[in-house]
Order: sequence, then structure tokens, then C-alpha cells
Amino acid sequence: MDNNATTRVDPRVLGAMLPYFSEQYGNAASNSHTFGWTAGDAVDKARTQVAELIGADPSEIIFTSGATEADNLALKGVAEAYAEKGNHIITTAIEHKAVLDTAKHLEREGKSVTYLPVDQYGMIDLQQLKDSITERTILVSAMYGNNEIGTLDNIDEIAEICHERGVIFHTDATQAIGKIPINVKTQKIDLMSLTAHKMYGPKGIGALYVRRKEPRVRLALQMDGGGHEHGMRSGTLNVPGIVGFGEACQVCSQEMERDRAHTQGMRDRLWEQIQATVPDVSLNGHPTQRLSNNLSIAIRGVDADALLASLSGVALSTGSACTSASVAPSHVLLALPNAAQVIGSSIRLGVSRFTTKAEVDQVASLIAPAVARLRGVAAVTP
Ligand SMILES: *Cc1c(COP(=O)(O)O)cnc(C)c1O
Repeated sequence: MDNNATTRVDPRVLGAMLPYFSEQYGNAASNSHTFGWTAGDAVDKARTQVAELIGADPSEIIFTSGATEADNLALKGVAEAYAEKGNHIITTAIEHKAVLDTAKHLEREGKSVTYLPVDQYGMIDLQQLKDSITERTILVSAMYGNNEIGTLDNIDEIAEICHERGVIFHTDATQAIGKIPINVKTQKIDLMSLTAHKMYGPKGIGALYVRRKEPRVRLALQMDGGGHEHGMRSGTLNVPGIVGFGEACQVCSQEMERDRAHTQGMRDRLWEQIQATVPDVSLNGHPTQRLSNNLSIAIRGVDADALLASLSGVALSTGSACTSASVAPSHVLLALPNAAQVIGSSIRLGVSRFTTKAEVDQVASLIAPAVARLRGVAAVTP
């Protein structure tokens, strides 16, 4: 139940990857023998699969080690390449730490960063975004789907505003990719971060989409070396990972509607059962404009850490895996106007393509008595 932190590798993805560890172990940059050519062809195929899922050209996909690296490359790459144009970046208070910590790093280097607040649903105010853009603004980075509270922000409108003002628009689409249709061309996205392991692919591989025309986005490289990936990201390509990422994209393209219906069905079933058995529970994030697989809830008066401890047989979290690694309260919940009511009492549940009704029912049946115990009251029976 923690599929917003990572997902199981789909058996079809694993099957596609396996030959590239042992039989086909070539370096995709070796151009003097078949091992290299075979690896190179596999990378080309995967690049096309990734590009097709998001409506990009294969030449616009830069493979990275994941979304953290893609976010770093996007923000630092633009900040450096457009330094003569301006020094101002706009982002939001609820971004993933991969964006927020990179923005802090750039602030220490003298850049100016605006962190837009969010409303009770976790959405930014479009007028406030417009008002924040100045002559010196070079980049807006706003996430597509929030990894803690599941909100899908109004990305099309945000992109349109940036486009009109000639500001580059980056979105961390890690949670949304493969779950909802995304087209970087029609949606006017200039830079987009992706990772395989949130969409049934392997860990340690992801990509940055970099628009090549209208406008052509320039990036200062962050990794010097052999000039791989159009010189934007040197390093021997992770061929099995890339093949798995490509296959994961292909499966998501084909099964997106089925996956959405399934995860939403499981998520809603879970939420209905929790609402029926747990009094004083509320949803965090937007009620409808949200990731189909995410349920973030606040259980009034209940300590979320104590709840998780008493549900030791269930894999749950209070926030994102990255934020959970520190003891600080979630910066996402803190940014909500009703933070005081939800901090400390919120848990996140994330279902997947593989989640079954039996699992949902079991989890729901464990939560109600655990909450009742912590509240010192008798459990509600469904
Ligand atoms: C998981 C996640 C990341 C980090 O991705 P990695 O590939 O693990 O580096 C970044 N942004 C969001 C929104 C995420 O959910």
C-alpha cells in the first residue's frame, strides 16, 4: 500500500531486461562490434518507447539515473545556461525535495527563487504565478502530480502562462507519467522529469525530456565525460535499465485506461471502507483532480506514527519516502492552509496495477480497530 514510493517491476519489464545483463551485455557506445550494436539498437528502441508515451521526439529524451537527477539537470542546467538572461526561478512549496533542495542550492549560488504557496487542495494560484513572473524569470518548475497528497495541478494553464511570457516550463511528472495521458507538444511542456520505478520499471533509471524546438531549450551539462546523450549527460548507458524503462512505458501506453480504472476502483473501495468504519477522517488533496492510485487521509486526533507502528503488517507511510527519512514533518502538509489539522495525523496509501480487492479489504479491516484502540474507543463495525 505504498506504491507512491515505488512499484513492483512488471514481469513483462523484467523479461525484457534479462537478456541485457548476460548475453547482450554490450556497451551502447561501442560501435565496432555486434555486442555494441545490439545494445545501441535496444537503447534506440527504448528511447522511442519513452518518447511515444509523452508525445516527444526520441532525440528529446536524455536518460538519467532517475527523477532526482533529471530535476537537478533541469534546474541547474537552465540556471547556468540562461544566466545572462536572468536569475529568477519560480517553483512551488510542495515540490519533491529533488526540486526544492536543488532550488535551495541555486539560492546559495546567488539565484533568486520564489516558492508559490498552495490552497487547501495543494494547487497554486494562477494569478499569483502571473504576478510573480518578472523580466528576470528564466524558469518555472511545477510538479504534475503530488507524491504525498496526490493533487494534479492545472499544468496546461501553467504551461500556457509560461509560454506567453517566454519563460521555460519544467514539470516533475514522476507520479503522473503512465497514469494519465501526457503530451509535451500539445501541453507546451519544455522540460519534464520521469522515473521508471514509479511506473512498474526498475530503480535507478529515468529521463529528462528536453524540448528541441519552439523553443529549443539549452541546458548546461552537469556531468562531464564522454559526451553521451547529446553531451548533456555523460556516462555509460544503463542498458538493461533503459530497456526496462522503455518496456514499462510501452505497457503503460497500452494499458493506461485499464490501469486507471483498476487503481481508481481499488483506491475508492479503500476510501469507502475507511469512511464507513473510521469516524472523523478527511481526505488530503483535491477530491477529483488527483492521481488515481493515491489516498492521503487525516485521521483526527490519531498519531500517524503510532498508527503505522500498530499496523506493522501493512506497508504504509506518513509522507514521501524521502521526507520520511528525516523526522521533520512533511513540508507538503505544512504548506496546506489547514496544516495544523492534518500534520501528525495523516497517512498515505498508494495502490497499484497489482493491488487486489482482498488486499484492500484486509487493510481497511485492520485500520479501523487500530484507530479505535489509539482513540481508546470501541471500533465501529461495518
Ligand atoms: C519519486 C519521486 C522523485 C525521485 O525519483 P527518483 O527516480 O527516485 O530519483 C522525484 N519527484 C517525485 C514527484 C517523485 O515522486
